Amino acid sequence: DGTAVRDVDVVVIGAGQAGLSAAYHLQRRGGLRFVVLDAEDGPGGAWRHRWDSLTMATVNGIRELPGMPPVEADDGVSSNRAVPAYFADFEQRFALQIERPVRVTLVEDDPIASGPGPRPLLIRSVGRDGAPRPLLRTRAVLNATGTWTRPFRPVIPGAGDFRGIQLHTAEYVRAEDFTGARVGIIGGGISAIGHLLEIAEVGSTFWYTRRPPVFADRPFTEELGREAVAGVWERVRQGLPVRSVVSATGLVRTPAVQEAERRGLLERRSLFTRITPDGVIEADGSETPLDVLLWATGFRHELRHLRPLGLRSEHGGIAIDGTTAAVDPRIHLLGYGPSASTIGANRAGRAAVNRLVRDLHDLHDLPV
Ligand code: FAD
Repeated sequence: DGTAVRDVDVVVIGAGQAGLSAAYHLQRRGGLRFVVLDAEDGPGGAWRHRWDSLTMATVNGIRELPGMPPVEADDGVSSNRAVPAYFADFEQRFALQIERPVRVTLVEDDPIASGPGPRPLLIRSVGRDGAPRPLLRTRAVLNATGTWTRPFRPVIPGAGDFRGIQLHTAEYVRAEDFTGARVGIIGGGISAIGHLLEIAEVGSTFWYTRRPPVFADRPFTEELGREAVAGVWERVRQGLPVRSVVSATGLVRTPAVQEAERRGLLERRSLFTRITPDGVIEADGSETPLDVLLWATGFRHELRHLRPLGLRSEHGGIAIDGTTAAVDPRIHLLGYGPSASTIGANRAGRAAVNRLVRDLHDLHDLPV
């Protein structure tokens, strides 16, 4: 229809740890025309949005980006400042061109098939203020869109009637906002523990989890990490929905967890059955008045723009083969399932580029 189309070999969507790792390896290999699109206004991926009290001391540990020394920042510095600054240095050091703010709205098959081999993909995107941008046509997509934009909240009857404040971890700013309040914190992961520790200093906390939390009986070692990741791999190979990290490792007795135990904050209640205008109905039928419900119930992967491609299996997840979707090897998922950590993101970026170079080379005799 006369619309301008830009042709490239690879489009990287997202410039968090996973997208930047991929961009670094693409640049180093050379030979492929690639673009990196990112919805943020500046470097840092989801780290731009973490709450202030998630400092370099309280994060789980951030693996360095490829070709870079580790993040250098004092313990007390917020991760939402230290990591974006580090990513900015990385982008500059390797002269990576990231197009932002650009949000991909849709990835679909090019309706006009051309030449042999897999059909090209068309990428629709919008820039600042939602302004549509020229279409991109590409052979492959390295999707690295993370989870931050898809906070997950279970559906509980009565949620719409609650007169207090409801928020998700993704919207949490600071504990002081809840001074003097009765706060229900829902979730069995490390974010919930962090919220408990902070909010208990200024208000009353009530901790709810669906199942009794399982504490890891050993410290978090590389071996435990490897086992947990292997378990998640097994699920994504089969196309099962991705489970949380905590369900794979158990709640690791980090110093934060130990402190919460010491302070008696881990008096866990079964998830309430109903939300009322003024609180919740407990599993035993009694009502507990609450001012705030803070949902620390995790995130899903941001994959809405890939919907036209029909990647999901009948089990509800996406079956993965290496880094590619098993049903569509044009699509790589980085930071997905077992690679949803800074170390996993690094590896996925490298593995995806290796595979891509091989696939495209087989097809088109591109230089390797
Ligand atoms: P992100 O950093 O989320 O980057 C995704 C990027 O894609 C973003 O810039 C986003 O704007 C962009 N994007 C999304 N949708 C689109 C679109 N449609 N078009 C264009 N761009 C888009 N892991 C660790 O290893 N150590 C930790 O200490 C740690 N702490 C964590 C703390 C919290 C609270 C959470 C939620 C997670 C934590 N993780 C941690 C896991 C963390 O998510 C990963 O380690 C890693 O940061 C994820 O990197 P990523 O590149 O996959 O995603």
